[in-house]
Amino acid sequence: MSRSERDGGRPVKKPLILDAATALRGQALLRLGLGGAIIVIGLALVDLLHMRLPYELPMGGLYIAYAAIVYLIASRRRFLFPSRASYVTAWLDSAMLTGWILVSGRVGQLIVPFYIFTAIGYGMRTGSKRIMHVSQLASVLGLALAPLVPYWRENIAFWLSSMVSIVIIPGYVSILMDKLHRALRFAESESKAKSDLLARVSHELRTPLSGISSAAELIEAEAKEERPRRLAKTILALSVHLLADINDLLDQSKASLGKLELDNEPIEVDRLVAVVSASVEMRARQKSLSYSTVIDPRITDRVIGDPHWLARVLINLLGNAVKFTDFGSVSLEVSLLQESQDAYLMRFSVRDTGVGIAREYQEKIFDPFVQIKGQGAAQFEGAGLGLAISKQVVELMGGALRVRADVGMGSNFWFDLQMMRAPARPSVVDEPDSVLPPTELHGQRLLVVDDNETNRYLLQELLQREGHEVVTAATGEQALDLLSREPRFDLLLLDYNLGAMDGSMVLQAYRFGTRNPSPAYFLTADATLVTASKLRDTGALGVLTKPVRLHELRRAIQAASGGVQAQAAEPGEFSFEERTQRPTGPAGPAQSHLRPVPVVFVDMAVIDRLRSIGTRQVFVKELLERALADIDANTLNILAALERGDLKAARDAGHALKGVCMETGAMRLMNMALGVMRTKDNYLLEDRARIAAELQDTSQRTRDALQRIIADTMRQAAGF
Ligand code: ADP
Repeated sequence: MSRSERDGGRPVKKPLILDAATALRGQALLRLGLGGAIIVIGLALVDLLHMRLPYELPMGGLYIAYAAIVYLIASRRRFLFPSRASYVTAWLDSAMLTGWILVSGRVGQLIVPFYIFTAIGYGMRTGSKRIMHVSQLASVLGLALAPLVPYWRENIAFWLSSMVSIVIIPGYVSILMDKLHRALRFAESESKAKSDLLARVSHELRTPLSGISSAAELIEAEAKEERPRRLAKTILALSVHLLADINDLLDQSKASLGKLELDNEPIEVDRLVAVVSASVEMRARQKSLSYSTVIDPRITDRVIGDPHWLARVLINLLGNAVKFTDFGSVSLEVSLLQESQDAYLMRFSVRDTGVGIAREYQEKIFDPFVQIKGQGAAQFEGAGLGLAISKQVVELMGGALRVRADVGMGSNFWFDLQMMRAPARPSVVDEPDSVLPPTELHGQRLLVVDDNETNRYLLQELLQREGHEVVTAATGEQALDLLSREPRFDLLLLDYNLGAMDGSMVLQAYRFGTRNPSPAYFLTADATLVTASKLRDTGALGVLTKPVRLHELRRAIQAASGGVQAQAAEPGEFSFEERTQRPTGPAGPAQSHLRPVPVVFVDMAVIDRLRSIGTRQVFVKELLERALADIDANTLNILAALERGDLKAARDAGHALKGVCMETGAMRLMNMALGVMRTKDNYLLEDRARIAAELQDTSQRTRDALQRIIADTMRQAAGF
């Protein structure tokens, strides 16, 4: 990634093929800029050489007026039917060129390349061969009129060769475009196949791992002698390592497919540092290293960001620091570099006094699967993915991960992040602390549904040991049968992959027509986004990713009984909307204990970035006003399409809405748009009333937030 891209925050990738409105706007600008400049220079030259022809000035005026009108129409906020307008301009552009040929006599021969340029331009910008052929046809018809001019009649051979080039060159480009599209489709299917394969591999690895760690937990609990207990502990510790590696592999594949999505939630820096430290301090102590943290005391406000990913990066850096240090110390420092009313610029720095890193490796270690040889036993832990993922995450957050180190002199990894300050924390004191262990709960009636016999047996054993009554089912049908006959369960633990009838189908069938359904958790070995989106809106209380650990089960049981909310094992898999706004259903009592998280509709980091791009004061205002109109129009389109039951139109409008939201940092609404795009047909249809109501509400609040930002921007511009 180039520096300039990085400086602007997230890299902005221009798509290869543009949507009709953007393509038309770009073309209008080109016509006005390039065409206008050529005409002005051309007229000046012609004047200088005393070659003036009678119709040049009116033709120049006509062309500039045409270019300006199209530009104005294309830049309108509510620009309707852009693809039809493209067909009209494809004709008119060639007609204009023909006009030039007819009035310019000999100079008209310079126009021929522009016919070709225009036709190819239409094809390339819109990705549509049809529109390219329309433009080409208009050019052929236009050039057919050229022999009306004496110059062309006298040079009929040149006229013919021009005609042939207009027919052949765009025709050849059209063949190349076909090849390009085929290659693109192939690349897309390849990357889909890759992510599917990873999902499957992760599933295959997690399922046995689930059995291994449950069995080890049982041995640890039941063994009377010290030795088997210690061995069981070792198995558990190794499973944790293995799971971390599988997660890294999945994260890396997601990052390389551009699928990492960051949340925007308020983060308490000191709390985050405490959670991160809890996971490394023990290991540091085991190696007799001193471990310390320093947080700049001026950091008093919470900041907006993704706590899960920020913690992952820090845990990874600190984990490496402990791993590659045998004597001395490891420290984490968060310092404040700059402070404004709205944001902090903070430096997160991890130092160690370990083996250090030779200069020649300092760039390479950020590549996936790279480890330095000869660093002792430590190097055999890990898959060489941690730094690669951390680097990409930090860049997504708008920073850059850097290293300063020398052999034998320790290492220092750091990154700077600009993070928006969040309003002071609401004074709710009686919230439960999700970091604290849950209180014990016994005697619950639980239904475990899993098609894997070993897992079923182990889960049953673990839960029975906790004093619960456990009923099991091996298939979805069996589970539904039990649910219709047996008294109400306190919690259902549903494996997602149940063969013929997956867990979400079972839950939906059960919840449909049940007055007071039991709360449910999904157990899944597949931690990908695809599954997460499949599980949305099924009404489950949460998801536990396999291998499921006892403390997670305890949390789930407690959440179902109205205690703390169990943490999904992969919180990063869930969209912002899902984690903060799940339909209550049986989750009601559990959610009433949750901390009220202030909802952030617009990511101010994006707005700040926009502010830093525009040179004119009104740039952000104009841009946001246009976005407001687009959000309004696309929301209405989705609502109308949902009402008609036209899911394709709803998804198309969702796609357009996602685009505007991404440009303006309207993350919450963007997640809803993504929800409309990704939710399965039957869920979307069944739940459309609720989705429509939520969408309308979020869209309104997002527009209110944007309006406030516009007002703020104008106030700042006016110097208040
Ligand atoms: P992993 O730790 O899983 O091997 P990483 O991507 O986190 O993978 O790190 C890649 C490599 O960079 C490590 O294997 C190690 O050789 C080197 N490295 C990372 N952090 C440090 C450190 N603090 N001190 C020395 N070497 C390090």
